[in-house]
Amino acid sequence: MAFRVSFGKPPAEAAPSVHFRPAGNDERSRNINLLKARRFGAFEIATNLFHQVASLGAANVQVDRTSAGSTITVEVDGITHALPALDLATATALVSSFKQLAGITAQEVRWRQSGQFTAIIKNKSWECTVVSSGIPSGERTQLLLDAGKAEFANLAAASVSEPLQKRMRASLAAESGLLLFSAPPQSGMTELLETAVRDSDRFQRSYYLLENSRRPRPDIENVATRKFDGSTVTIDSLLRSIAKEHPDVLIVPEIDDAEIVDSLTSQPAQGRLAIGGVLANDAPETLLRVLATRCNARRFAGEVTAVANARLLRKLCVTCRQPYLPSPQMVMELNLAIGETQALFRPSGTIPGERDEPMTCPACGGLGYRGRAAVIQWMEVSDEMRATMLGSSDDHLQLLREQAAAAGMTPHLAEAATLAAAGITSVEEIVRVLRTPRD
Ligand SMILES: [Zn+2]
Repeated sequence: MAFRVSFGKPPAEAAPSVHFRPAGNDERSRNINLLKARRFGAFEIATNLFHQVASLGAANVQVDRTSAGSTITVEVDGITHALPALDLATATALVSSFKQLAGITAQEVRWRQSGQFTAIIKNKSWECTVVSSGIPSGERTQLLLDAGKAEFANLAAASVSEPLQKRMRASLAAESGLLLFSAPPQSGMTELLETAVRDSDRFQRSYYLLENSRRPRPDIENVATRKFDGSTVTIDSLLRSIAKEHPDVLIVPEIDDAEIVDSLTSQPAQGRLAIGGVLANDAPETLLRVLATRCNARRFAGEVTAVANARLLRKLCVTCRQPYLPSPQMVMELNLAIGETQALFRPSGTIPGERDEPMTCPACGGLGYRGRAAVIQWMEVSDEMRATMLGSSDDHLQLLREQAAAAGMTPHLAEAATLAAAGITSVEEIVRVLRTPRD
């Protein structure tokens, strides 16, 4: 499926209307930035491009300009797509327009610069960030669309099945214990952790999020954020100062060293729920990744209650998805809970146009997918697994996986198959995302 974003001039009646509100301290300086942005000779292309990528829910646009030419890529739902190349002069004019809107110097190509502007289409707005810096023999410019916006409002919006939502909420409502959220790199760990917190009782209990100042994230309403940097402000000193405010829940979005793990696992004994994020391929492996920090193993094994491991997969575009009858073999392999005559859906990217000629689907730009869903493996930690964590088995990981399966762990595939049966995603997408664990 080809991704169709065009730089051509749209017909007058389809001319996109994007209202840009540039950077600036007052109306006059914003107007000057807008006037200058219009003068680079590619403002129409910039507006047209912005309208198309914003309408597709793109996360960012990246333009690299070097002596060899220009490349433009767009990231949508975690996948990077190349756009047709623009000649260098046009690409430079395009980049200059966005830089000017963001109030940064269009002519400066070596030093790192960043700025913001707002774009409004109909009654929806995007808070955009432009980041520009030199690369060997050229410049890289990134336009981040709404980098601070949460992908999922709650677990239901992330397409988590209702039975699993219930189990997760029960663990989040616990008075103490340690709850872990994990995923391979770039696969949704932070999104899942933040979605679970958003879904919790943060209006009834006091939640504190301890953020590493090198990895800032947007605030979550009614969750107090405190920053630590590892040297001047350590997590230990931070926890001591927060303890005076009697927090109920403490969250550390990434627990990657023994000091952080030990600080967090000392909390449940004081009647608090602790929540942490870990990079790992599956839920059993998450336990071993934490133990590998050389933390206080006995305390960690004693406190950890449950682990959620995430993947993000793309949802089918509902405008152009195509129904088909799956083979009995596929139904069996995916363990699909569907009747013999129930259709599944696959992506198409086209809709019937005039005289039934296929035309690019306007809702997904020809990608066949639109938006994402979280697929979660959910594991509650048993005493048997605690003993394995502290024991001396030859293959801890294999043993933990067997024990987790026996204790009723919800596999990724079970949640993914539910989404396929409901027509939310495709079998192809499930295979792409769950095929191999990423290292
Ligand atoms: Zn579509």
